[in-house]
Amino acid sequence: MDHRSGYRIAATASVKSDIVKGCVDDLNGFDATARLHEIRANPLMLNDEPDSPRVLHLSLYCYKSFPARIFHALCLKDGINSSALFFKNNFTNDHLPITDHELELAAELVGKLKPDVILMSIMAPYAVAARQLAKKLRGVTDSVFVVGGKYPTIVPHESLEFADYACKGEGDLTMLRINQRLREGRDLRGIKGLWYKDDQDNVVDMDQDVLYQDMDDIPYPAIDEAQMYFIEKNHLEIVDPEIYDEDVLVMAGRGCVYLCSYCVNSLLIPMNRGNGRFVRLRTPDHVMEELDYRMKKYLDPRTVTFNDEVFGVFDEWVKEFAAAYKERCKLPFECELVPRLIKEHNVVLLADAGMNSLHFGVQSGQDEIRKEVMHRPGNNEELVEKAAMLRKNGIQPQYDIILDNPFDTPESLAVALGLLLDFGTPINLNTYKMQYFPHYPFTNMALEAGHISEEDVSDEKVAESVLYNMVYRPKFPALNRRDYLENCIYLIPWHGPVIRKMIISLQKKHNPLLGFAATLVARIRYWQDFQHVGLVVWARRIILGVRCLLRGDFSMLADRVRNVIKKTRYQQPHTGRLSVR
Ligand code: SF4
Repeated sequence: MDHRSGYRIAATASVKSDIVKGCVDDLNGFDATARLHEIRANPLMLNDEPDSPRVLHLSLYCYKSFPARIFHALCLKDGINSSALFFKNNFTNDHLPITDHELELAAELVGKLKPDVILMSIMAPYAVAARQLAKKLRGVTDSVFVVGGKYPTIVPHESLEFADYACKGEGDLTMLRINQRLREGRDLRGIKGLWYKDDQDNVVDMDQDVLYQDMDDIPYPAIDEAQMYFIEKNHLEIVDPEIYDEDVLVMAGRGCVYLCSYCVNSLLIPMNRGNGRFVRLRTPDHVMEELDYRMKKYLDPRTVTFNDEVFGVFDEWVKEFAAAYKERCKLPFECELVPRLIKEHNVVLLADAGMNSLHFGVQSGQDEIRKEVMHRPGNNEELVEKAAMLRKNGIQPQYDIILDNPFDTPESLAVALGLLLDFGTPINLNTYKMQYFPHYPFTNMALEAGHISEEDVSDEKVAESVLYNMVYRPKFPALNRRDYLENCIYLIPWHGPVIRKMIISLQKKHNPLLGFAATLVARIRYWQDFQHVGLVVWARRIILGVRCLLRGDFSMLADRVRNVIKKTRYQQPHTGRLSVR
């Protein structure tokens, strides 16, 4: 199988003629690295002097946005009048469209804050929303628009269609250089990593900055600090909703060691060759400092989730972290690690420190597709071994798999089902839908193989797919074997004996009628577990309750009733884990 052609083609290859090399202006000797280190211990204080430069950080569809929260904290420490607006939240598969009233609320706020610079953090699925919001805000402000994040990092030239500057790469040092320019009353041309259009309408390539290595100098995300605003459901809120979350989401570092073809790291790692180490960890002490800060902010924290792509990849770090966490934080935590990197001696230490669950990427159930198409390490035998080892150490694995992969066949899906059945029960399985992000190697392969067309990679299509179908939705009516086998995979967490028997039978033999029955059950699971359709949820509760009664299992019945009361009181929409993929 050779799907590697086109791999690592630069995203700007098609527009080279419009791009000219820019010159870096040394900003009168301003040293951003020294400044970042110098302000590290500064408090998060708002500088509201009338002549202080004003910046507004804007995040789209992500209240938890690490970049917006970190840059807000960084600017507060740097003595800037900083604000942060979180425009719309992330409701997995159920994002709400932007309303005119929400645009008005954002415009009113910008009119009141009068920022000199608006900095938007953008990922590809939100490029359409970013254009819409930028257009509205340009009507009420002369602020300079800077965009940063994964979208402008990959296609800075396209971002300049609606922004004045596009930050390519990580922006910590760039942010401080922008602040310095604002203090000096100068424009932003000539800053390393900050692309723009010159007076002849050429895109000026300002390269990208090095990867900052000392992660302890980077502030942790601001939680419920000064001038934070949240707009969703036609309402502007000034209290940070994060403080009500029972789960505390933290990152202990940045970067990943792999280049999975469907992940942004397949572009970022080659792009950053020669720029310094890509995987960088904060010291355990700094992570604990952040947890102390967050514990003071949250009203009722119950769990901690580390959102790192590869958590605890270095043995020495794990040893130090486990000791610090055990001593200073009593909450259970979960994290994510590529199965190949899971080592038993580290699992033992982390379990002792409080880890109770680990996200574990299967992604494809067939070795050849995982390796040749998805460019991921590991084979099924290794996955089963690692899962058993986690269970032995009291850790609940949470498996992730990507469905709707056009390179899958009925045969590969049958193998995937076999693997998932081998993991045993109960099983926590997150089923994602494959997405086609522009320029990713996987997308290029799918284009070359004719599985998708250029139109499927447009900003609009990417937005539609990620906003409403990030998580796999069972196909319907799924009469062919490929489709109903995918629905069977979706059904695996419902592991009652009848369903398990049905799945095993379908895995072995084509049976469209039984496949249709599996599809119906898969749809019910989606309505019940994901969409919380009232009728389905209550029908299932009643059936389970009656079953307990008939068996005389009153303690189980009491447990179920308690759970229902708790869920009814605290029911939240699915906001999903943050993901780079
Ligand atoms: S999918 Fe996960 S393991 Fe693969 S490159 Fe991305 S973050 Fe790393």
